[in-house]
Amino acid sequence: MKIAVLGGGCVGLTTALHLTQELRNTDRIDVVAASFDESITSYVAAGIFRISSAFSAPTDQLTKKWIDDSYNFYESISRSAEASNAGVTNISGYLFSNSSPSEQTEWMKDLVPLYRKATDRELKLVGGNWKYGTFMTTLLTQPNQYLPWARHKLREKGVNFMNRSVESFQELTGTYDIIVNCTGLGSRQLCNDRKLVPIKGHVIKVKAPWLKTFFYGGVETYIIPGTDGTTTLGGNREFESWDKSICPYQIAAIRDRCEKLVPSLKKAEVVKEKTGLRPHREGGVRVEVERIQTGSGRAMIIHNYGHGGYGICAAPGTSKYAVELTKNAHRSTAKL
Ligand SMILES: Cc1cc2nc3c(=O)[nH]c(=O)nc-3n(C[C@H](O)[C@H](O)[C@H](O)COP(=O)(O)OP(=O)(O)OC[C@H]3O[C@@H](n4cnc5c(N)ncnc54)[C@H](O)[C@@H]3O)c2cc1C
Repeated sequence: MKIAVLGGGCVGLTTALHLTQELRNTDRIDVVAASFDESITSYVAAGIFRISSAFSAPTDQLTKKWIDDSYNFYESISRSAEASNAGVTNISGYLFSNSSPSEQTEWMKDLVPLYRKATDRELKLVGGNWKYGTFMTTLLTQPNQYLPWARHKLREKGVNFMNRSVESFQELTGTYDIIVNCTGLGSRQLCNDRKLVPIKGHVIKVKAPWLKTFFYGGVETYIIPGTDGTTTLGGNREFESWDKSICPYQIAAIRDRCEKLVPSLKKAEVVKEKTGLRPHREGGVRVEVERIQTGSGRAMIIHNYGHGGYGICAAPGTSKYAVELTKNAHRSTAKL
């Protein structure tokens, strides 16, 4: 059996890791992607595990399974000797809000080891008059470490990497029995999926080694320190914007909101400003099997795309599910 994983972002690489663990009788696994470098969306994310109610699978039961499987995957890395190479670590911090005590964090309560109401004193730790606050410990998966680590692990297991842009699945069906489609926003064109739209976001990476705690001020303002002394400041959401250029007004607004929340950021030097397009899919992430007709017969595509603003944290759960579908679909094809 020859398998192509199409896409070299967090979803593609995590799917390939699951494939190498679950399918031992494959002749070949290749990861094919137009790009593996820092230009892809996965490199823009801070990678905090904070899933909101906006993330969904077709059923609540499946949403919970994807979230639990994802958390368990990263948690087991965080407890292993690989943790620092993989860039997976624990992080604690505050979520402040004026609209609800647990603004969009219902999924997190029973998942993380520590989740509690902030005290009145803690509400005054930062700038702004916050009505509600939550303190929690969660996980951070830093893409600039996790993605190279995953590629290294895959190479060790004999997986090949191919830099190639694909216009249609038919280009691959002659060579591969199964294609796992993890192309994020690229699926808009590849699958003609109109439900897939970009939500553009800006982030600022600053040097702030004194920060160890994350802070959210509402859902739009966040400050997430990494382990290398760089902190990610965000964010904003621009629905259906395909333009990846940096808007100085958005950058100034993010910086202003973050400095109001944590005034010590005024002295933080800018390292980089970035934008990325979140692959948002109306109706939720698409993880399903599709059989397509080709010149030489039928080919199997397993889709795994449309993670929106949650593709780093949710990649392991959807990837595990995609691999379960791959195994079942392959078994039923073999029986025919
Ligand atoms: C500002 C911002 C902050 C974020 N913060 C977080 C966060 O803290 N936590 C979190 O979980 N998520 C976060 N996200 C969301 C997260 O970054 C995405 O959900 C995730 O990166 C999607 O991963 P992906 O692998 O599906 O897509 P991508 O990273 O976009 O990778 C897609 C891959 O497919 C390839 N590809 C596409 N089309 C083709 C084609 N036709 N042929 C060949 N290859 C193709 C690309 O080259 C690339 O390798 C954030 C996003 C943004 C923009």
